[in-house]
Amino acid sequence: MKMAAKILDELKKLFSLRSLQARIFIIVLAAGFIPSMIVRYGILDNYEEHSVQQRISTVQNQLMIVGNHLISNNYFNTKPDGYDSGVSRDVINAELEMISNLYEGRVMIIDSSLRVVRDTYDISEGKTIISEEVIRCFQGEGMSNYDREHGYIEMTTPIIDAGVDSGKVVGVMLTSISNDSTVATMEVLNRKSVILQNLMMVVIVAMAMLISVVFTRPFNRVTEAINEVKAGYSDESISVPDYAETVHIVDAFNQLLERMRTLDNSRQEFVENVSHELKTPMAGIKVLADSLLAQRDAPAELYREFLEDIASEIDRENKIITDLLVLVKMDKKAQEMNITSLNINDLTELILKRLRPIARKKDVEVVFESIRPVVAEVDEVKMTLIMTNLVENAIKYNKEHGWVKVQLDADHQYFTFQVRDSGLGIPEDALAHIYERFYRVDKSHSREIGGTGLGLAITKSAVLMHRGSIVVSSVEGEGSCFTVKIPLSGTGGSLVS
Ligand code: ADP
Repeated sequence: MKMAAKILDELKKLFSLRSLQARIFIIVLAAGFIPSMIVRYGILDNYEEHSVQQRISTVQNQLMIVGNHLISNNYFNTKPDGYDSGVSRDVINAELEMISNLYEGRVMIIDSSLRVVRDTYDISEGKTIISEEVIRCFQGEGMSNYDREHGYIEMTTPIIDAGVDSGKVVGVMLTSISNDSTVATMEVLNRKSVILQNLMMVVIVAMAMLISVVFTRPFNRVTEAINEVKAGYSDESISVPDYAETVHIVDAFNQLLERMRTLDNSRQEFVENVSHELKTPMAGIKVLADSLLAQRDAPAELYREFLEDIASEIDRENKIITDLLVLVKMDKKAQEMNITSLNINDLTELILKRLRPIARKKDVEVVFESIRPVVAEVDEVKMTLIMTNLVENAIKYNKEHGWVKVQLDADHQYFTFQVRDSGLGIPEDALAHIYERFYRVDKSHSREIGGTGLGLAITKSAVLMHRGSIVVSSVEGEGSCFTVKIPLSGTGGSLVS
């Protein structure tokens, strides 16, 4: 049952011309069949030609001999009823009879007045024959012609007088002989070659099927291996080293698998991080609430103090959720950009105005230096997120009485937004990780100042959506410098960050 289904499957594949197996089958079939046809017809044709030629030359030779006898016995000038001449005429006529019997044909002797003087069929004697072949033959041009359809050969042989009028054609022999013996041999040959060819066809078809199945088997193995991974039986890298082509396909698939594994791992890690981050404020709230409940007559001030702490934990939870939503939205709507032409100087001024109160609290001086006015085509919300996050970080991770310098510049293609600070700086080994979600250099310090570890992830994502780049340089203990470069027009070239 299974075998039948398999054979049916193979046949289906063979009839679908798009399948490689079908193509290989057809090519092998053609490669075997066409030469065998050519050889068959070539050999038969060759045999026919050869045997016709041989028959013509044999008959011609014999006719020439008879022709010579005709001349030497003065055949044309003697009367059929003359005694002496009658004997020699009979001898010659017997020779002609013999030839026509031997070759199953008819010989006619035509004299110079185009009259038939002898016909071995005894039909046309005395008649005049005016045919192009005969007239040509009188001019010395003998011919032979094979009529394949009726299976006979027709030829004209000049009778040349080598005596007084040396070279003169005094008569013509018009002969037609049967070619049946060749035709019969050819039929036998043809029958045999058909049988042989049929046998060969069976072998060729079997070989074509075998080769097409064997040659395409590695591709089936690739499909099987991929299906196993797809079905979830295995998530190991696959290997089908049979052909260079299968190696390439399998390599590309393994790379895709690796990418998916990485994505899956990072998704898992992200979910773990999110749960952990969300649990932390909840745990804080629980501890605060539990300790209040544990004290029977806690004073009102203690209640107030703990509730304030609970409120700030709830704020934190809120901030994490808001940031997460921004990030997820940005991922989901990666293609959606609300591009407008915007005055970047005005936008910077507005953002700095909003952030100055926080800076003032830490006694951090914020300076804006605009090298030139910039108008660019950007998404206002995302641009605001980029600027706010960078300036906010520069204030948050600063020292008391520190400074933040914001500089805006542009060339003909890009504008640069640079934020420098006199803050804590970022350790060199942490620089590669600061754009990761939830990554914080100093977890407890960041938590204290209300960081979620999502700000720079959001910033980088927004920069890339503008086809821009972000680079950071930092010296621990001295300060950091973040530089964002964004195309002035929304369709500007992309930059590698
Ligand atoms: P957070 O919400 O914790 O600020 P970010 O993604 O914005 O998260 O930043 C990630 C980490 O990078 C921060 O926790 C901080 O340690 C470091 N960082 C970011 N900006 C600065 C800066 N200007 N100076 C020093 N460290 C910084």
